[in-house]
Amino acid sequence: MRDVIIIGSGPAGWTAAIYAARADLKPLVFEGHEPGGQLMTTTEVENFPGFEHGIQGPDLMQVMRKQAARFGTEIISNMVDSLKQIDGGFEVVSKGEAYQAKTVILSTGATARRLGLDNEKRLYGHGVSACATCDGFFFKGKNVIIVGGGDSAMEESSFLTRFADRVYLMHRRGEFRASKIMQERVRNNQKIEIVLNTEVTDILGADHVEGVVLKDTVSGEIREMKIDGVFAAIGHEPNVALVKGLIDLDEKGYVKTVPGTSKTNIEGLFACGDVQDSRYRQAVTAAGSGCMAALDAEKFLSH
Ligand code: NAP
Repeated sequence: MRDVIIIGSGPAGWTAAIYAARADLKPLVFEGHEPGGQLMTTTEVENFPGFEHGIQGPDLMQVMRKQAARFGTEIISNMVDSLKQIDGGFEVVSKGEAYQAKTVILSTGATARRLGLDNEKRLYGHGVSACATCDGFFFKGKNVIIVGGGDSAMEESSFLTRFADRVYLMHRRGEFRASKIMQERVRNNQKIEIVLNTEVTDILGADHVEGVVLKDTVSGEIREMKIDGVFAAIGHEPNVALVKGLIDLDEKGYVKTVPGTSKTNIEGLFACGDVQDSRYRQAVTAAGSGCMAALDAEKFLSH
């Protein structure tokens, strides 16, 4: 039985691995099919301390992975299919193979939320996207809508102006929740038009996006608008499928941890990063909580 298995490979998972490996716990990381987590779909990361001139998201993850490997972290590039408690620890099954450990650190992150429209699903990849940094390039010279009012919507609408002619930033309320500095950038960008109190209620088009149906959330008025692309930047859902029914979740569906620690309600099972943080959700806070999880696991094992 191993000391620690880490599930997930974003900033939280790799930081947990670096600390656990340096504590000689010989961690095993399941990095999943899309290693690196959300930073893999980001471009420039300007606010991760230590990189004065910024760093590309995928590069940051690559460096963290190498750093974890350098101290002896074992890495498996598969998804974990199940996790259960066994005598003296946990059993993780991946691709039919079982792995056992005394502790598990859960760092499975969060996934972009969708608008939930039938035609969004049908036209996904044909003008509908939840990742401006991945798909913005395909909208050169086109007009697009981006839905949302948080920092992601601000950041992604600015990013989309590199390609699109016109970006309509649509928000369901009359004010954004994004930080002032990000709002300012958007307001100063001539290519972005802000459309408040508006919801996208349908997406139109046979085999690619041709338009949307919009609803004014104040007057209730419905109108159609021609558009080439629809991006959602409306937050994230925590990836908790593995632990549903096993550990306590909070009212938003995120893993509940004891404040100031990475402890869940199950002894030996720790959580870090976005799967347990609906509030800060920054790469640096995820990394910090990964460090906490490794230290908590180490302390647990030493008792
Ligand atoms: P968020 O702050 O949760 O904002 C989500 C936005 O989407 C809100 O404005 C929300 O509207 C809207 N929304 C949610 N569901 C919707 C739906 N079904 N239809 C239409 N609109 C919907 O998420 P986020 O922007 O992804 O940011 C998450 C965290 O990451 C934040 O802490 C943020 O500061 C951080 N972040 C930081 C940076 C940076 O510093 N560079 C960049 C990106 C993100 P309401 O406002 O009406 O609820």
